[in-house]
Amino acid sequence: MCLGHYGVALGAKKAAPKTSLGTLLLAAQFADLLWPILLLVGVEHVRIAPGLPGSLDFIDYPISHSLAALLGWALLIGALYWGIRRYIRGAWVLAAAVISHWVLDFIVHRPDLPLIPGGTARLGLGLWNSLPATLLVEFGLFAIGIVLYASSTVARDTVGRYAFWAFVAGLGLLYLAATFGPPPPSTTTLAATGLGGWLLALWAYWIDRHRGVAPRTPAA
Ligand SMILES: [Zn+2]
Repeated sequence: MCLGHYGVALGAKKAAPKTSLGTLLLAAQFADLLWPILLLVGVEHVRIAPGLPGSLDFIDYPISHSLAALLGWALLIGALYWGIRRYIRGAWVLAAAVISHWVLDFIVHRPDLPLIPGGTARLGLGLWNSLPATLLVEFGLFAIGIVLYASSTVARDTVGRYAFWAFVAGLGLLYLAATFGPPPPSTTTLAATGLGGWLLALWAYWIDRHRGVAPRTPAA
């Protein structure tokens, strides 16, 4: 999944208003931010396979994408955040966001997601086999996230307004380019592009600093 993870990060703001969108994004996308690093150092492996959905054959990715590893990362990230910020609600939401990555990937991937590192079980419902269904789910989750984030925050200034909508439009275009463009020329290029996700997290921190929590509308 791609846009769906961003949808989770955006929507999670409503559940944890005091947590920055940047941190929420780091959590929801943690698996895909760690993955390119592990690819580059040769710990995890992927093969470019133009015939497959997404043109990728995920050979192994036990540390970034097994359910057990993500439960561990969720615990670690939640605990770390609580230790630094003392905002328990944010800690729980971040942990849930980390785990949500596996659940969403489980829906779209072919059966290639491991349960535990070293285990033989591989899971995935394969939604990626249908392009229309994939686009519907990806854009659907993304749209829900946008509505939740936009309604639970208000722009403090022009940066808060335009940087947010540029972020949303940019993500949508990047996704379409990746989906309908040619497959990546090499796994190194793929990993290098994947590292760009860290920049998106920085962008999200910048946006969030320019937006405040929306005042609750009084009940009519
Ligand atoms: Zn993933």
